[in-house]
Amino acid sequence: MRRPIFAANWKMHKNRREAAAYVRELLPRVADSDGVEIVLAPPFTALEAVAAALAGSAVALAAQNVHPAASGAFTGEIAPGMLADLGCRFAIVGHSERRALFGETDAFVSSKVAALLEAGLRPIVCIGETLEQRDAGRTFEVLETQITGSLADLPSDRAGELVLAYEPVWAIGTGRSATPGMAQEAHAYIRGRLTADFGEAGAGIQIQYGGSVKPENAAALMAQPDIDGALVGGAGLEAESFSKIIHFEAQEGSS
Ligand code: PEP
Repeated sequence: MRRPIFAANWKMHKNRREAAAYVRELLPRVADSDGVEIVLAPPFTALEAVAAALAGSAVALAAQNVHPAASGAFTGEIAPGMLADLGCRFAIVGHSERRALFGETDAFVSSKVAALLEAGLRPIVCIGETLEQRDAGRTFEVLETQITGSLADLPSDRAGELVLAYEPVWAIGTGRSATPGMAQEAHAYIRGRLTADFGEAGAGIQIQYGGSVKPENAAALMAQPDIDGALVGGAGLEAESFSKIIHFEAQEGSS
């Protein structure tokens, strides 16, 4: 049985004070959420403040990125062990913003996956097609390439520790979510591929949907059999809307 996992990716938002205030507001709202995993991914600069505010709670800390090397001359980068030292249990890798804006390749993402597992962190690996690729009927081909490339260095006995996030690029930050049917179709494809590669462990990998998830559309998306939670950007910046997504509650006045 796969446990739903909800992660808020704050991107380049919130200083330490704002981050701690968010956690104080979130924790009472999700105190009854035993059946799900909840993850917060603040910017690096707020990791320590969020770790302190989360102390004693079941909500997990994540980094938004990592460098695959254990240490060395990589100015501006952060190693997996440094994240573990701060209390991180997850790190997001392969986000489409990093792929598009910072030129990250599947091979680089794959090296991060292996390095995170080595350091005892769970990778949240993002994949997804652009609108152009979808319109050209290439969605499955793109997902196939990204899965193969981004998981090339994944030791098969560690597959169960992975989280996959299907994030169609055209749905990120646009307010235009995939329909539940479109998302389920992609998730079923990804599930089939992970199962073929990793057997039972692959079938058990949690696959999040990401792309304009909000309180109004969370319930319909989460009702799909292969959607195991959400990676949330914009709506994860407010504790109230993130907790509503976790509870699959529709916002007042929404249909
Ligand atoms: C994201 O950036 O991973 C994301 C899903 O953003 P948003 O929810 O704002 O579309």
